[in-house]
Amino acid sequence: MNANRITRLKQGSENPNKKYVLYWMQQSQRVFYNHALNHAIEIANQINLPLKVFFGLTPNYPDANQRHYLFMLEGLRETRKLLIENGINFIFKLESPEKAIIEYLEDADTLVMDYGYLKHQRMWRHKVWDYANRYLSDLCIDIVDSDVIVPVDVVSNKAEYGAYTLRPKLHKLYGEYRDYFGLKKLKITMPTQYESDDDLSDPMGLIKRLDIDKSVLPSRIYHGGYSEAKKHLEYFISVNINQYPSSNDPGYDRTSKLSLYLHFGQISVLEILEHIINLLHSNQITQEAYLAFFEQLLVRRELAYNYVTYQQGYDRFETMTESWALQTMREHDNDPRIYNYSIEEIELGKTHDRYFNAAMKEVVHTGYMHNYMRMYWAKKIIEWTPSFKSAYNLIIKLNNRYFIDGRDANSYAGVAWCFGKHDRAWTERPIFGKLRYMNDKGLERKFEMNKYIERIDNMTKN
Ligand SMILES: Cc1cc2nc3c(=O)[nH]c(=O)nc-3n(C[C@H](O)[C@H](O)[C@H](O)COP(=O)(O)OP(=O)(O)OC[C@H]3O[C@@H](n4cnc5c(N)ncnc54)[C@H](O)[C@@H]3O)c2cc1C
Repeated sequence: MNANRITRLKQGSENPNKKYVLYWMQQSQRVFYNHALNHAIEIANQINLPLKVFFGLTPNYPDANQRHYLFMLEGLRETRKLLIENGINFIFKLESPEKAIIEYLEDADTLVMDYGYLKHQRMWRHKVWDYANRYLSDLCIDIVDSDVIVPVDVVSNKAEYGAYTLRPKLHKLYGEYRDYFGLKKLKITMPTQYESDDDLSDPMGLIKRLDIDKSVLPSRIYHGGYSEAKKHLEYFISVNINQYPSSNDPGYDRTSKLSLYLHFGQISVLEILEHIINLLHSNQITQEAYLAFFEQLLVRRELAYNYVTYQQGYDRFETMTESWALQTMREHDNDPRIYNYSIEEIELGKTHDRYFNAAMKEVVHTGYMHNYMRMYWAKKIIEWTPSFKSAYNLIIKLNNRYFIDGRDANSYAGVAWCFGKHDRAWTERPIFGKLRYMNDKGLERKFEMNKYIERIDNMTKN
């Protein structure tokens, strides 16, 4: 593995009484293509100790509801099975991870954590590191990045202006991070292989017992887990990838749906990249399709990670975008809005705009929305809401409530893009000022919108 993925956060003094190595799995909820897991196995093998993998599930994860929890638990059920098949102990706790992990630190020689880039994820890791610094002089801590191709601080040390500034850096570096060569074998396995507060084999049963927001139904279409992610990847590769350059058209269902699985770390971005590179080398996909997919999977996605890392206050209206965008919004905040919909009308998709309504229906029923429709959807909420700040807060709220992949670096970057971040100033117009504007005529001019309406109606019929 490329050594730049690993950061030693804390050195530990030697103590021969330690019982295991501990991998705190939180972001990369998978077995394959998990650099943090492989690093933990390597250390366990070096010092002849067994390995425990820990996962803490908090019922209070910001903005999460049963739709997200079910998807995640379906994935964890499969991950547990794979870990156990590989002789690795799995601890599953129904408590906020940064608290629940504490009791396992004392006997650990080394703690390996995976990276989480959002604020609360960083805070969790910081708290554990801080605790160890104060009380556990003999614990070593490593943090390993397995969520992006090129670690964020390697590719850049500042907030990038846009895809155009990040792209050349990623194109130059990504080859050095094709660095996964299979799951390592653990030398010493443990007799007790599963410690849990509850039964992971029945995710829906567990959901019923959890005190979480149950107001949003689970997706009717998408289910969590590595095998499901692989099914989507294989379908995408065999049916859609060569048409990917035209996947912006919502009338055709040509996108991969992998964001749902990437969000929970159920599949690795590197595994996906390796697949498409192999297809390119064996002439099964066109160069155009490869580059179009690479642009989204690497450039756009890693731009979002750069954004949440370096943009202070990425989740607050006042601080999430550029100053020219804030200025134009100030100038147009009091422009009269022609339509003024209530939150309920927006959420129920009861507006005059049938494309917006279809997009809302898609996400309420399935937990997914097509990328182009996400832009259109957010732009319409801006147009129909009395102020930019209330529009921002509502978009984030709905994004994180209904999208299975919500609460992601991509959520904050995607929404901020609608408010000018990583975009440019356009010709000034009412309400939007210099922000990019989108309308239904544009959709109709470019795409097969009737097909989109038909597709969503069929998908959500029952
Ligand atoms: C207003 C708005 C809100 C968004 N909210 C989210 C969100 O909550 N979670 C989320 O994961 N993405 C979000 N996005 C980004 C993008 O829409 C989704 O990542 C994409 O639609 C996921 O579908 P897919 O996996 O089928 O994409 P594909 O087209 O198959 O692309 C493959 C992968 O590339 C990456 N990707 C694709 N488009 C983008 C993009 N525009 N920006 C960054 N990465 C991209 C994703 O990881 C995606 O899985 C948002 C975009 C906007 C404009």
